[in-house]
Amino acid sequence: AADNVKASNVAKIKVVVRKRPLNKKELTKNEEDIIDTYSNSVLVHETKLKVDLTEYVEKHEFVFDAVLNDEVSNDEVYRETVEPIVPIIFQRTKATCFAYGQTGSGKTYTMKPLPLKAVRDILRLMHHTYRNQGFQLFVSFFEIYGGKLYDLLNDRKKLCMREDGKQQVCIVGLQEYRVVDVEIIKELIERGNASRSTGTTGANEESSRSHAILQLNIKRSADGSESKPARVVGKLSFIDLAGSERGADTTDNDKQTRMEGAEINKSLLALKECIRALDNDQGHIPFRGSKLTEVLRDSFVGNSRTVMISCISPNSGSCEHTLNTLRYADRVK
Ligand code: ADP
Ligand code: MG
Repeated sequence: AADNVKASNVAKIKVVVRKRPLNKKELTKNEEDIIDTYSNSVLVHETKLKVDLTEYVEKHEFVFDAVLNDEVSNDEVYRETVEPIVPIIFQRTKATCFAYGQTGSGKTYTMKPLPLKAVRDILRLMHHTYRNQGFQLFVSFFEIYGGKLYDLLNDRKKLCMREDGKQQVCIVGLQEYRVVDVEIIKELIERGNASRSTGTTGANEESSRSHAILQLNIKRSADGSESKPARVVGKLSFIDLAGSERGADTTDNDKQTRMEGAEINKSLLALKECIRALDNDQGHIPFRGSKLTEVLRDSFVGNSRTVMISCISPNSGSCEHTLNTLRYADRVK
């Protein structure tokens, strides 16, 4: 990666689609792969029924900044999405990378390796290009579940949020760790992921109702020395969003599930609106719509960059969710 990338050369919003391979269960059920991918477009083959119950196929095409097929590695995903924005967080940029999609579409598989790869590059920049300039790297990791915040690096301690009046968001008591080498971040990512809500019904089920937010903060003191207090100069956030289908849980029999569904629906809608508002700088940014967008407020104002990775399942049984995901991504771009 070029280390001297100018922020103005990096797109404000980038929307990428990633298709996962058919899994064993889908193969056993003889499910069809209904997704064709091209360098920057996706074609969905939807099977429908006519009134006389004969089948026909309706094709839907969507165009994005990039489309990653089911053979693309996590390294290539990193190169396409996060690598280009790493250098510019040293230039007072706040950048956010989201994984969006239905439960089981590959959000966590996609998101989990990205912070580690980013930290490798950030530390390399700090030790070479920005050597002896007083930059320091910190990490925090928390979860939004049912509209409440939990620290994933501090025994799920419940947290609250405060605004300081200068468009800065402060999460009171959020644990922050300094990152001086890759081993530290590896351990913290494992610990945080193990700490995600699991409830009583099994891990994927419950974590699909929460947003997990890992933030890398680049700090620097006013005179660039290590002895003075350091302030955040750049930020890179990784967000493994709640399963997009959970926003439809608003008619569930269980009241708790209904409330969580409503909160997820609200946050994904607000997120879409906030990202769209980024494109026209003058625009009012509707971050007050949800906890998720309030927490990310400082990443929506000023010099910011957004990468949305929309994860899709290839199987015919997921067709409706896949189309919903692609339509959402299409509105964001
Ligand atoms: P989500 O977080 O969206 O619910 P996961 O990331 O947990 O979905 O993925 C569901 C399953 O599919 C996991 O077992 C994961 O390992 C597998 N998977 C997802 N994406 C890929 C991929 N691109 N290649 C291989 N396996 C994948
Ligand atoms: Mg997941």
